[in-house]
Amino acid sequence: MPDSGGMPVTRTTCPYCGVGCGVLARRISPDRVEVAGDPDHPANFGRLCSKGAALGETVGLEGRLLHPEIEGRRADWETAVRHVADRFSATIAEHGADSVAFYVSGQLLTEDYYVANKLMKGFIGTANIDTNSRLCMASSVAGHRRAFGSDTVPGTYEDLEFADLVVLTGSNLAWCHPVLFQRLMAAREKRPGMQIVVIDPRRTPTADMADLHLPIRAGGDVALFNGLLTWLRAKGLTDEAYVAAHTTGLANALDAAAQDIDETAELTGIDRRDLNTFFRLFAANERVVTVYSQGVNQAADGTDRVNAIINCHLLTGRIGRPGMGPFSVTGQPNAMGGREVGGLANQLACHLELEEPEHRRLVQEFWASPRIAERSGLKAVDLFRAVASGRIKAIWIMATNPVVSLPEADLVRRALADCPFVVVSDVERGSDTAALADVLLPAAAWGEKDGTVTNSERRISRQRGFLPLPGEVHPDWRIVCDVAAAMGFGEAFDYDGPAEIFAEYAALSAEGNDGTRDFDIGALSDLTRNAYDVLRPFQWPLRASGETEARFFARGGFYTPDRRARFIATAAQARPYPAEETLTLNTGRIRDQWHTMTRTGRSPRLSGHLAEPFAALNPADAARLGIGKAELVELSNGLGRAVLRALITSSQPEGTVFVPMHWSGQWSGAARIDVLVPGATDPISGQPALKAARVTASAFRPAWYGFGVALERPAADDLAYWAVARSGPGYRFECAGDGDMADPALAACLLGIPPEAGLETLHYLDNAAGAFRVAAFDGDRLAAAFIAGPAPVAAERNWLTGLLGKRMADSRERALLLAGRPGDANAGPGALICSCNGVGANAIRAAIAGGACTVRGVGEATQAGTGCGSCQSEIGRMLEDAPVAEAV
Ligand code: SF4
Repeated sequence: MPDSGGMPVTRTTCPYCGVGCGVLARRISPDRVEVAGDPDHPANFGRLCSKGAALGETVGLEGRLLHPEIEGRRADWETAVRHVADRFSATIAEHGADSVAFYVSGQLLTEDYYVANKLMKGFIGTANIDTNSRLCMASSVAGHRRAFGSDTVPGTYEDLEFADLVVLTGSNLAWCHPVLFQRLMAAREKRPGMQIVVIDPRRTPTADMADLHLPIRAGGDVALFNGLLTWLRAKGLTDEAYVAAHTTGLANALDAAAQDIDETAELTGIDRRDLNTFFRLFAANERVVTVYSQGVNQAADGTDRVNAIINCHLLTGRIGRPGMGPFSVTGQPNAMGGREVGGLANQLACHLELEEPEHRRLVQEFWASPRIAERSGLKAVDLFRAVASGRIKAIWIMATNPVVSLPEADLVRRALADCPFVVVSDVERGSDTAALADVLLPAAAWGEKDGTVTNSERRISRQRGFLPLPGEVHPDWRIVCDVAAAMGFGEAFDYDGPAEIFAEYAALSAEGNDGTRDFDIGALSDLTRNAYDVLRPFQWPLRASGETEARFFARGGFYTPDRRARFIATAAQARPYPAEETLTLNTGRIRDQWHTMTRTGRSPRLSGHLAEPFAALNPADAARLGIGKAELVELSNGLGRAVLRALITSSQPEGTVFVPMHWSGQWSGAARIDVLVPGATDPISGQPALKAARVTASAFRPAWYGFGVALERPAADDLAYWAVARSGPGYRFECAGDGDMADPALAACLLGIPPEAGLETLHYLDNAAGAFRVAAFDGDRLAAAFIAGPAPVAAERNWLTGLLGKRMADSRERALLLAGRPGDANAGPGALICSCNGVGANAIRAAIAGGACTVRGVGEATQAGTGCGSCQSEIGRMLEDAPVAEAV
């Protein structure tokens, strides 16, 4: 990080994905924050991805919730806390403890999570607290617990670097965990013999970088790993000593898995030769890591998928040693912390079991609580259904946006609208969920709050505040403790800060443990506030004895009653090919957005990569549906509808459609895609199947399409289609409608400028061609522009957005503006490819034309791909598409 006048640098942790990168942050001025990767953090060693690198752009107060509100009116904290406590207490008194619920989040810090869980399970006395991590990795938790007897991730990130074969299944690591992917790419560059296999129905940017891509049919995961198990066994690759000494249940697992390679090919849709190649690679490389993520977890058989993977590692004894093991990567910054602290409705804190009477007694005594929940609470999907049915009458939602992210999203919205009492504590004032709250409680954001998070490799790191708390914002732990005190539990929640909460949590992890539980950080039970302040990242366990373990299970020692791992019998379900007239809807993430965009949506740089929600369609499906390039597509089913831009690409398998899960009602008219996803869940983990909805697709044909830029946010809510993104000093927007595109009232709304503002405007209307263009100038600066016509607008979007707020006195320049393109076709930046260094497609094309013939060569010429590296596969595709004569 460059020197900046001696401003202090704070070591903290990125608030986005489960890689958990260390960040150096410095406040340069009241509204400017500089960030860099922490070179000393063992997760990232100084790297950051595009999202992490843009953190400084997201710390402004625009859109922040800064004061408590009751029924839309500002209230003081004392009144708001008393009101929440009284309503919860009255509901419990009248309807019992099970009539209330908390829905919490992997965005919470461990200390926040701990007190919320303590209040609900130990003092209110119900386990109706679940977390949005249920949507992310509950199947991994369930699979771990079935196989290992505990929710233990056996390995570390280093194992991906040590491995000779890395299998990535259900994971677009290049976009969803970019820094871990870059570590993997760097390791392969050093050891070119390392092989990478990607198992994914889509040809993702991760698949582009793989040695072998297996385009598995959606739902074929259990069959694939069952086939591998059977094949490994038949080839004599069982580690007999390991299996005999440390496992149980192999015979049943083999019986359930039995299937030859032809059956495996039939069930997975993977070519028989490719299966053979994969199986032989797995057999030939002892050091093999199988990385899996949401593509495995978010399924109705997600837990079986996890166990089918684990079975293969147990059979070969490839677990817990350097460079080998099953490895679940989590989506959220503190999904692991939530698992450890009992944020799930079926767990107690510190990996203690809710269903175990002895564990309940231990926790209740430790907390000295008046009661303890005696059975599992409602898991996320069921919890909101219980709100809808009226069983839950008061709910507190912390740091998450279920109206966008949960399946049956419209049912969730209706449920909250009808719920007698909804509390939302959050950072964001305008989220889709906050709009339904009776009480809003302003919570501290990243950069303001203090606590710990755990990443995917069991590494606990500090998130530290370096910004003052704005307005009347309070940290989440304090909000929970204040409400607990107002409910009469003050003594048990009288903490003077997160350090004290963390020390209590550490002490509970060691209570009655004696090596019987994996999660033990007892060495930190007496941590002082000063020591907490300077706590360095560490991996658990960290026992009171000082003993630790980098990896688990190389020599057995599982946390089952007999200390043996369990093979789980996982039967592959035959999946009928779906009816032709419908598509399988796969939802997921894109490179530069995070969750429901409440934070990343503020960054113009991040919004520049993919500024609009889209539906990726195979060319054959698009042709069958009569949908052309950049036209609009409507997806619908019995639950609802969405309208999205069609992105026609051969990387999308026929019969399927991919839609990002990020867009909310804040940024789009009809792109909340979870509206279309039914609430089907895995019966063991309760995790929803977010990648298997059935939808009907059809062309959506508006009278006109439009694109615009504006300094003020456009008001497009009444249009048939709209999507808005931050851009430069203002906004860019896409829209479509059926009325008169040249209606002055419409233009005024879209340009964000009322006619009385008296700005100079420039119009162009060609009735014959159906083309309309308008630009507004504040003095000689461009304040807004709008281009519309009967076909999707073919404008140079990044060039236009770059003009926003700029001086444009020259009449030729203004004419080009109305044309939507610079005079020279290559003068604009083109589509943004590299967010880190702001490199557009035109500069990359120029570098390729100038002789760059590798990704590295393009990087040297343009800087593209040299930041986080997440765009390297897009550069690779551009190289592949370039004519040979230009690329050599
Ligand atoms: Fe943050 Fe990116 Fe690191 Fe994930 S990979 S923790 S999003 S910087």
